Amino acid sequence: MSQISDFDIAVVGAGPAGLAFVRCLAGAGLSVALIEGQDEAALREPAFDGREIALTHHSMRLLKTMGAWDRIPADHISNLRQARVLDGGSAFALTFGARNADRLGVLIPNHLIRRALFEVVEGQAGATLMAGRRVAACRVQTAAPRGRLTLDDGTTIRARLVVAADSRFSFTRDQLGVGAGINRLGRSMMVCRIRHDQPHGHVATEWFDHGQTVALLPVADPDQRVSSVVLTLATPAVADLMGMSPEAFSAEMERRLKGRLSGLALVGTRHAYPLATTWSHRFAGPGFALIGDAAVGMHPVTAHGFNLGLRGQETLAKVVRSARGGDIGSERLLARYQHEHRLASWPLYQGTNALVRLFTEETPPARLARGLALRAGQANGPFKAVVKRTLTA
Ligand SMILES: Cc1cc2nc3c(=O)[nH]c(=O)nc-3n(C[C@H](O)[C@H](O)[C@H](O)COP(=O)(O)OP(=O)(O)OC[C@H]3O[C@@H](n4cnc5c(N)ncnc54)[C@H](O)[C@@H]3O)c2cc1C
Repeated sequence: MSQISDFDIAVVGAGPAGLAFVRCLAGAGLSVALIEGQDEAALREPAFDGREIALTHHSMRLLKTMGAWDRIPADHISNLRQARVLDGGSAFALTFGARNADRLGVLIPNHLIRRALFEVVEGQAGATLMAGRRVAACRVQTAAPRGRLTLDDGTTIRARLVVAADSRFSFTRDQLGVGAGINRLGRSMMVCRIRHDQPHGHVATEWFDHGQTVALLPVADPDQRVSSVVLTLATPAVADLMGMSPEAFSAEMERRLKGRLSGLALVGTRHAYPLATTWSHRFAGPGFALIGDAAVGMHPVTAHGFNLGLRGQETLAKVVRSARGGDIGSERLLARYQHEHRLASWPLYQGTNALVRLFTEETPPARLARGLALRAGQANGPFKAVVKRTLTA
């Protein structure tokens, strides 16, 4: 006979959003099941995945409050002092600098954040980790306890609230009957680390070149000679790059960077991410809520996805805590989360998509428009202030 377990909350997905949400419920007196497809060893020691996450000051504060910050090795945290945006072959750069000795933000490898979040959740009172098991079916009904999940090992989980944190292609979202606008871009991002001759000076560069977008992100390195390269190209071109020998790849990157960096050598592994942006038609309903990429799958170019996911789970945890023993699956209660998080997400989602369109279209009017946009941005103090606040708040 299959086993049935009851919980207050079932969270599907132990990515950064799911882990942080469980952590934010610590001490709330709720029993929480955290279901994750990867096995426990992969969660405890996640592999390097190429992503260097640019954290806002708000995210840093939140990670500190959760106790995760101190578990990230300090020598892997790279300070971001300046960001610049370049357009094609133009010498003009729109720049954002940190004031005085301050920093715009920090860059931290994704796998180290995941590891730190896992460490603070592991052993948390009231939290039960179910790793190496995937959700095979999920539904919510009007009668308590509302949520019913079937795992691939036959276990049944009943919960008063189901929280989907299982990525932008969320299986749980589909099972709950929640639609989403999914925009597959036909392009992929290739990410890896490279060593180079010139010190990066803790400056990040976003270069919207013709036919390719390149981000160079400063990695924590004693002599500042390692950067993360994020290259966006049509998916087949990324597949070609992934298949090259390290030597051929380094030579190809030097050609693509057009003299911006020299003496390139690949460090470690390359990773490819097909690009798709997603927007869920609902973020919550009776007995369920969506967080992280399951709610909003941002284009990575403005580095908001993780930060937004962290903010959303914080909002949901606050709303759930405010129930104080009441119905945590109530549609009215969860509507507060939906309202607040949609307000926070919509301008960032639409703004980022508009930016991507403006900077990737290759028609002459689009090229002219982006040159003008960058110059106007540099000249307009309030505009820069808004962008900077968005990047660093
Ligand atoms: C190249 C790149 C660079 C990025 N850089 C930045 C940045 O600088 N700043 C920023 O803010 N964001 C950035 N992002 C975005 C950020 O990485 C994501 O927003 C974030 O990882 C989303 O976290 P999540 O927990 O919602 O989902 P995920 O990290 O996708 O985790 C989902 C989890 O759910 C599990 N799962 C899936 N299905 C099931 C199932 N059926 N049953 C059980 N478990 C399941 C998966 O195994 C996974 O562990 C970047 C993304 C990319 C691709």
